[in-house]
Amino acid sequence: LRTVSKRVERLKLSETYAILDRVRKLREQGEDVIDLGGGEPSFRTPDHITHAAIDALSDGETHYTASRGTKALLEAVTQKYKREHDLELDADKNIIITPSAKHALFIALMTLLDDGDELIVPTPSWVSYKAMAAMAGATVKAVPLDGKTGFMLDPDALEQAVTPRTKAILINNPNNPTGRVLTREEVLGVVQVALKHGLYIVSDEIYEKVIYDRSRHISIASIEGAAPITVTISGFSKAYAMTGWRLGYVVSSEEISHQMLKVQQHTVGCAGSFIQFGGVAALAGCQQRIAEMVVSYQQRRDRLVSGLEKINGITCVAPEGALYVFASISALGFENSMAFTRWLLETVKVAVTPGTAFGEGGEGYIRLSFAGSDEDIDEAVSRLHYAFQ
Ligand code: PLP
Repeated sequence: LRTVSKRVERLKLSETYAILDRVRKLREQGEDVIDLGGGEPSFRTPDHITHAAIDALSDGETHYTASRGTKALLEAVTQKYKREHDLELDADKNIIITPSAKHALFIALMTLLDDGDELIVPTPSWVSYKAMAAMAGATVKAVPLDGKTGFMLDPDALEQAVTPRTKAILINNPNNPTGRVLTREEVLGVVQVALKHGLYIVSDEIYEKVIYDRSRHISIASIEGAAPITVTISGFSKAYAMTGWRLGYVVSSEEISHQMLKVQQHTVGCAGSFIQFGGVAALAGCQQRIAEMVVSYQQRRDRLVSGLEKINGITCVAPEGALYVFASISALGFENSMAFTRWLLETVKVAVTPGTAFGEGGEGYIRLSFAGSDEDIDEAVSRLHYAFQ
């Protein structure tokens, strides 16, 4: 038998899925595991969204839609960008509705990257960027950020990473796992470097609505000159508690969107038809429930941070956005963050994600999710406290 493709063989299974699988196995064995590993909101999808999809199903909306998406959802995305970022989009030319933000990222990277190209990614960064770039034949050029400076993004460091093979810079703002929300200066810095070197910007804004305190999310495409070079990814999983729906979208110039549509048409075809009705209800409907969920996340964040602060050897700062605390564990004396994560899961049955899953700059850290319930957060903190008292 011939071998499978080298390109796929070289990929690794997702470390976050590996933790999920291990948690499931331990639970099947009757273990009481607290899972702070994934970014799974504990809330139900708001009822008005669910009902819109149920009605669509009952009405027989169970067939293919246009590859870009339904007119109603494309319009709702257009209005969102006008309302929130003063961006004028053409529903027929600039947007593609995708089954998940993950697929939006996949079609964006498949479209922008050739064999041997480089994608600049500030790290620590989300687990799947590197694998997706590899599927497109490209490599990630990591720009490790320093935890001691609060993971500030330095435009000079970005610029130093540019080579003749660089195609794009990928920015995740708010950031998973660090929780940073970029300042206007940082966003301007990214745009300047990209414009100067003729690069695209891929901007993953999936956590745009999940921000705390006085932080403000700036969509990169809203910066002057950035819209033609920026591919913006967002979706419904996080803000609307819709992880299982698999719904997202990608916004770009007409030319890039036209190219991406080819990948969409020849892979998934379109996002789920009745699912898109839920998406319209989410974007165009009442936003009250979303605001309430963000308030709860902020309280959970504070609960987790103040609990962790009491544990000797663990240090962290309160994240400005997203659903994770990225905590330093280097003072605990473990060999590395993977060894710590394994020990924690097997000994006190708390699942977290090792910092190394997020690439360079992640060693010495763990990511703890506060998307789950207050009870889970309290129980996890008390088990950690017990372990390190
Ligand atoms: N981008 C980041 C930074 C994420 O954390 C996630 C999910 O965890 C995604 C994209 C994918 O979101 P979706 O559920 O829409 O595929």
